[in-house]
Amino acid sequence: MAQFKTTCCYCGVGCGINITTGVDGKFTVAGDPTHPSNRGLLCSKGRELHYTAWDKTDRLLYPEMRWSRSQPRQRVSWDVALERTAAVFKTFIDKYGPDSVAFYASGQMLTEEYYVVNKLIKGFIGSNNIDTNSRLCMSSAVVGYKLALGEDSVPVCYDDIELADCFLIAGANPAWNHPIIWRRVEAHKSENPNVKIITIDPRTTDSARASDLHLAIKPGTDITLLNAIARIIIENAWIDNQFIQQHTEGYEKLKAKAFEKTIEEAAGICDVPAEKIRLASKWIGNSKGFISMWAMGFNQSVIGVNKNLSLINLHLITGQIGRAGAGPFSLTGQPNAMGGREVGGLSNLLPAHRNLLDATHRAEVEKFWRTPQPISPKPGLTATEMFEALEDGRLKAIWIMCTNPLVSLPDVRRAEAALKKAKFVVVQDMSNKPETLEYADVILPAATWSEKEGTMTNSERRISYLHQITPPPGEALPDAEIIGRFAEKLGFGEAFNYYKQNSTTEERKFDAGKIFLEHAALTKGTNIDMSGLNYSILKKHGTVQWTFTEQDAQKLIELENSPDSKKPITFNLGAKRLFENKKFHTPSSKAQIFGCDDENTSEKVSDNFPLVLTTVRIRDQWHTMSRTGKVNKLNQHTPKAELEIHPDDAVKRNISDGDLVEISSTRGSVKVAAKLTNDIRKGVVSLPMHWGKINGSDAARANNITNNLVDSRSKEPDFKFTAVEVKRFIQTKRKILIIGAGAAAFSFVQNLR
Ligand code: SF4
Repeated sequence: MAQFKTTCCYCGVGCGINITTGVDGKFTVAGDPTHPSNRGLLCSKGRELHYTAWDKTDRLLYPEMRWSRSQPRQRVSWDVALERTAAVFKTFIDKYGPDSVAFYASGQMLTEEYYVVNKLIKGFIGSNNIDTNSRLCMSSAVVGYKLALGEDSVPVCYDDIELADCFLIAGANPAWNHPIIWRRVEAHKSENPNVKIITIDPRTTDSARASDLHLAIKPGTDITLLNAIARIIIENAWIDNQFIQQHTEGYEKLKAKAFEKTIEEAAGICDVPAEKIRLASKWIGNSKGFISMWAMGFNQSVIGVNKNLSLINLHLITGQIGRAGAGPFSLTGQPNAMGGREVGGLSNLLPAHRNLLDATHRAEVEKFWRTPQPISPKPGLTATEMFEALEDGRLKAIWIMCTNPLVSLPDVRRAEAALKKAKFVVVQDMSNKPETLEYADVILPAATWSEKEGTMTNSERRISYLHQITPPPGEALPDAEIIGRFAEKLGFGEAFNYYKQNSTTEERKFDAGKIFLEHAALTKGTNIDMSGLNYSILKKHGTVQWTFTEQDAQKLIELENSPDSKKPITFNLGAKRLFENKKFHTPSSKAQIFGCDDENTSEKVSDNFPLVLTTVRIRDQWHTMSRTGKVNKLNQHTPKAELEIHPDDAVKRNISDGDLVEISSTRGSVKVAAKLTNDIRKGVVSLPMHWGKINGSDAARANNITNNLVDSRSKEPDFKFTAVEVKRFIQTKRKILIIGAGAAAFSFVQNLR
């Protein structure tokens, strides 16, 4: 029996886990009571993590390859798979240039994995074509923070929750999707009944139900609402004048914009009573500690950046930032989206929050990596752009790591058709379930959580070390090692030599710690400086919030060597919260206030498609369910995809609870059971996004119908606003014949039953 500490691999809360191994290689999980984020708590998903790790039935065990699309794939050695892949990549790069290849990665990867793949494509292949599924969930928050605060820097920490007296939950349902943070909010409220919680959401979620005030707005009107709140705060002189004058720029622009509409006009547009807007403004304006929390409801929008800016505005005009118990707190969906941002793992970023468009920043990274050529100043393709480029032939080869775009991308049938057109597809995954495998020329089996070491950073900038608990099955390898071996095949072995020093050529031991040290060194002197950090500190002292400089490390050594060194170090390592000196990372050191237009540029509803569809997440599933879908207990809460529809909208369409319905947009359709509920606004319907193809049928795949509009700055898709119509679907034998022909159609209808 052995004990290990690690971190949950699902959401961005980043809960600490204690693992106890047994004699049979199995292990149990329990919340780590010493972990500052969760203090021993775990949600339903985290509590069942060991089952997902034990179960190897769907694991990819060996590299596979096919020489042509007409042939079946065959098991091959790692050398054969990677040599062939390197040869194909080289051919495309030589013939069409480095932008003809791309990597599509994931916010679930470890920081070290992100680091090496980003280094390979940007520094050595010579393209910026790397993007991740984080583009689909938090890129609007990244741009919002950069514009308002000068950098993608989350100012707040979880300990601020217990110091705040007013929470604004905007476009998020933390009760389901960030449960442990929510439990801290609830516990704080129950001990301090005067604490106020306001929720903005068109649905009455569990978070909304637990709130003091629910603003059930019309989708797409968030900026109108936030501007109205700003106006009331200004009119009542609840602003912090001194903070505005000394530490911000742009206040007058916001004031002019906010005063364009009366509160009654705004209330009409949002379809929220004016008194409720006034009450929310009063609570925010008079709060001693105001925290806003938001997620996909704000980010996944064609105007997602402006929603973020409008929300951050409220903190800047009230001075509720850079102090205890206050600040704008974007809730990260994925466990390591923050780590990905640290290493610059999006198509427009460079490591350590450097800017790809800045020649000085590019030169710093080129020098550090010793790149064979300058880093391209041209931003690479984003998630949705990659699939557009596959469709029109600009992109020839794509390498998909640790994510399933054929469930999660918008307008996914189009993405599927584009992937089919790709000249060469590599899929690196742990599971044999993703739909992408059907299109793969090469399949690479990856190690998963608990089978490899590395680090992740959670929503509050807290870096934690994840132990390897068990070896990966078959020939599966850690993602970083796979990329390192591939880089070697491309001729870049020296720059990707992350093996232990005493390894022999025959038996090389991969060392993720070397990658971490390189990543940390590259942050030196930047605003996310963690150059003092290494695995030893993380293993010995637990988690660290960046920044953690070499000087911080030196102080820690002095403390450890002091006469008191026998006492455990009890304080938080690193920077608990940011901007306490009120110096922001903008050229003027002042935060930027924006006056944002409130027009929603989503697709318009019409007579044919009069309802707004919003895609949502359910409590016990995670993303495309490759892990959580395997656990019986987690399938009990919401066993199948359902469409939430208001009873008035259902009656108009002759739909009863439980009826099979067809939801259509101009792009396609989905068929699931209807769930009639007053928890959703009239005119709005919702579908969970988790389900992909089931037995070959994509009937429940929500993204069949979502649109491919994106925010012009963040390039994040507009998942929360699709114009649709819903009809009752009559399941008769005759209908079977109408839907399709032959055996395929029959099996399709069988699947619906
Ligand atoms: Fe894991 Fe998030 Fe649940 Fe914590 S709240 S146990 S990180 S899924």
